[in-house]
Amino acid sequence: MAHLALYREYRPQRFSDVVGQEHITRTLRNALVQGRLHHAYLLSGPRGTGKTTVARILAKAVNCLAPQDGEPCNECEACRRITSGEALDLIEIDAASNRGIDEIRDLRDKVNFAPVELKYKVYIIDEVHMLTEPAFNALLKTLEEPPSHVLFVLATTEKQKLPITILSRCQAFDYRRLSVDEIVGRLREVCAAQGLRASPEALTAIARQADGGMRDALSLLDQVMAYAAEGEITLDMTLAVLGSAPLDQFLALDGHLIEGDVGAALLWLDEMVRAGKDLRQLVRDYLAHLRDLLLVKLEAGAAVLGLPPEALEQMRARAEPFTERQLIGAIRLLGQAETELRLSPSPRLLVEVALIRLTGLFTGGAEEDRAEERAPARAAAQASAPAPAPARRRRQDEAGAARAEEPSGGGGPATPTPPAAGASDAAPVGSGVERVVEAWGQVLEFVRTSRTSTYRLLSTSARIGGLRGKMLYLVASSQVFAQLLRRREDKATIEKALEQAGLGELQVEILSPEEAETKLAGLNPASDPGEQSAREAEPEPAAEGDSPLMERLRSIFPPDLIHEHDEEGS
Ligand SMILES: [Zn+2]
Repeated sequence: MAHLALYREYRPQRFSDVVGQEHITRTLRNALVQGRLHHAYLLSGPRGTGKTTVARILAKAVNCLAPQDGEPCNECEACRRITSGEALDLIEIDAASNRGIDEIRDLRDKVNFAPVELKYKVYIIDEVHMLTEPAFNALLKTLEEPPSHVLFVLATTEKQKLPITILSRCQAFDYRRLSVDEIVGRLREVCAAQGLRASPEALTAIARQADGGMRDALSLLDQVMAYAAEGEITLDMTLAVLGSAPLDQFLALDGHLIEGDVGAALLWLDEMVRAGKDLRQLVRDYLAHLRDLLLVKLEAGAAVLGLPPEALEQMRARAEPFTERQLIGAIRLLGQAETELRLSPSPRLLVEVALIRLTGLFTGGAEEDRAEERAPARAAAQASAPAPAPARRRRQDEAGAARAEEPSGGGGPATPTPPAAGASDAAPVGSGVERVVEAWGQVLEFVRTSRTSTYRLLSTSARIGGLRGKMLYLVASSQVFAQLLRRREDKATIEKALEQAGLGELQVEILSPEEAETKLAGLNPASDPGEQSAREAEPEPAAEGDSPLMERLRSIFPPDLIHEHDEEGS
């Protein structure tokens, strides 16, 4: 038989084997002993903390032929069939994989039939918040009048997305993240069972990376074990396998960010990439580091972190210049980047933009809330070449020197980085472009609500270049950013937002700075008569009942633009 993942092999089969969720397992056992079982339970909490594990133990416990103190015996026919996954009366539905439409329909049809072989028919619905609306409604109907032989166990990582109608019909339990100690304890047991020696530091590193989830911890241990040829797991090996960046490297990055040194931060990233670090892991590790800083800041301290004393002292010193709000903002920002990394075709760029935004956030001081909005705009020009060119580097150094004379980070007002000279400062050109400029805030807002990644690119790394007829030129701050914004989904998102902002007639072309120089030449800020006469102007008589907006548009746009807009708009 193939190697069984540790997570499955060591999956708890009794309530008492479940680590760290005693408030849940004790209540369930009591209910079982006293025969006061609800017909529907909701288990919610972070991924990999054992929700479906408890659901299966519960399924066994209610069906067990010889239960002991609310625990399943794991030996009777019912227990064994459930453990082996052969029980017909245990129905598991993963709402995340197919949103559960067929299964819920099936459920509704069959829920009233008596169980085939067990006492109870048990439905486990994982990620229940992902169900489609029709599926929810069907489920709700069943929950309203549940047959007495049916037990529902719903599990979700996002309880807040569940309708109140469902919540009110379940007994709910909230899972918590496991502490580092709890995870280390379990890892130690597993290592012992596998005949492996493991250093406490190595297990702590694994536990910290697992971020409170036992499933992740065991799967990380699995990866590390594959390299433990001599039956020993060391810290070095663990860090090498997991790709964790050691603490002092993160402390160096902290320093660059606090000093507002975008160039140094990007160089730091470059070094990490050269060293072969996985970007997503790097971001996750740095997120964990920021969280640690926040915990130190909040005086939650050593117990939660499980750090050696020297490292803790270092962390205390390093957390000093940050404010809580800055750290929370940074965690939010990086967390978003981490999510987007999964789908991004250019992960490095995404991380670079995130670092640039972090610099803005950390140098924003007391104004950090607004700094998060402002910083990207002023930093975007610097982002045009990820690896700092000599001239750029010098400019940053000068800026850094100027900043050094002022208090940094602690709470003074933002020190604006000098704007980069060049194309990015150019004003939009072409006749009628004012209207686009005016509506741009609205356009950005529509983009933001429909696609965050596009919004980030557009708001930090592009500007309105100009308007020629129906063609709106957007100028990206570099060739790379231009390529990104040209992707079908990004471009479609922008065009849709234009439409929502009443500029649906416009088409969009994304230009690199170089292309902008040639394409935008010949357009000028004022009305361009040459432009207009070059086209077939087709004057349209003003329609009756023109809205003020339409009048306005007619005064701004060439008539052929208004024509189309008129047809689809009103
Ligand atoms: Zn049993």
